[in-house]
Amino acid sequence: MSLVDLRSDTVTRPSAGMRQAMATADVGDDVYAEDPTITALEEQVAALFGHPAALFVPSGTMGNQIAMRLICPPADEVICDADAHVVSYEGGGAAQHGGLQTRTLVADRGLLTVDALEPQLRPEGYHTVPTRAVAVEQTHNRGGGAVYPLALLKDIRALTSSYGLRLHCDGARIWNAHVASGVPLGEYGALFDTLSVCLSKGLGAPVGSVVVMSDASMVEPARAIRRRLGGGMRQAGILAAAGIYALANNVDRLAEDHARARRLATSLAGVRPGLVDPGLVETNIVPLDLSVTDLDAATLAAHCRASGVLVSGVGPRRVRLVTHLDVDDAAIDRALDVLRPVLAAS
Ligand SMILES: *Cc1c(COP(=O)(O)O)cnc(C)c1O
Repeated sequence: MSLVDLRSDTVTRPSAGMRQAMATADVGDDVYAEDPTITALEEQVAALFGHPAALFVPSGTMGNQIAMRLICPPADEVICDADAHVVSYEGGGAAQHGGLQTRTLVADRGLLTVDALEPQLRPEGYHTVPTRAVAVEQTHNRGGGAVYPLALLKDIRALTSSYGLRLHCDGARIWNAHVASGVPLGEYGALFDTLSVCLSKGLGAPVGSVVVMSDASMVEPARAIRRRLGGGMRQAGILAAAGIYALANNVDRLAEDHARARRLATSLAGVRPGLVDPGLVETNIVPLDLSVTDLDAATLAAHCRASGVLVSGVGPRRVRLVTHLDVDDAAIDRALDVLRPVLAAS
């Protein structure tokens, strides 16, 4: 029997239809900006977010790294939450490649607030580190797929604008936020100077992210940084074709992933109080707090693996389950058949 892989929504494999779109894509050399499929994807994604420009990049990490460098010069500061992907999972790239200082605030479910941010913003001055930008993550990965409410994002935008700061969105899963909240992508887009959005998570493409930019003059510097990071690709239109296919076919269906995540959460919440709050499962990530059991994350993951179910430990006693387009209802049933007894007995 095949594995039920709930480690991440990055594990999806391109479907037959997606592979067909890739096989027949028109291509050219994108370092010369001559790949028509990449250009089409960039134009489409820029338009979805209501911005004038976008750049295709190999990964969300590179997308975030490019965007942060566009909005913050070396030695100045970007503020983000302490669990943000940009400071948790990017190998220190902001510091190493951008020379940026990141300052982190502990935030409930990763969601920054105006009250937390405002006292931390530092002014210009030779003996301080001037704050230049704030980065938010929509949805929040380590925050259990939490969705920033639109009103909160608007407040953060108003704050950052009033201090002359830029605002970046790590929108790796902004598609999930859009489907869960019903907020149009353009309404999210309008709030940010830069966004990085992933095609290779819930949308199911094998490779690729897009940096969206609010000012067309950012494109040339962005291309230069991408090149310097080794991200200039040639006939990568075969990858962009997967992204175009994903935008057409795999956005609305994220609602199914969210429903399956809720089903997992509701069922597991009944096994043991405090393990997971189904009311906080807004999208496709189900965080399990194993501190209410006598299991640790590695033990649970090993037990599940032996029964054909893969889960991720994201802390010593924290596990997450992630739904995606290669997980159907039968797979959820199988996962519950493995998880419920071990959690009940723990
Ligand atoms: C996955 C992810 C990224 C990008 O990761 P890559 O592995 O570089 O594609 C960025 N931000 C968040 C929040 C993510 O979950």
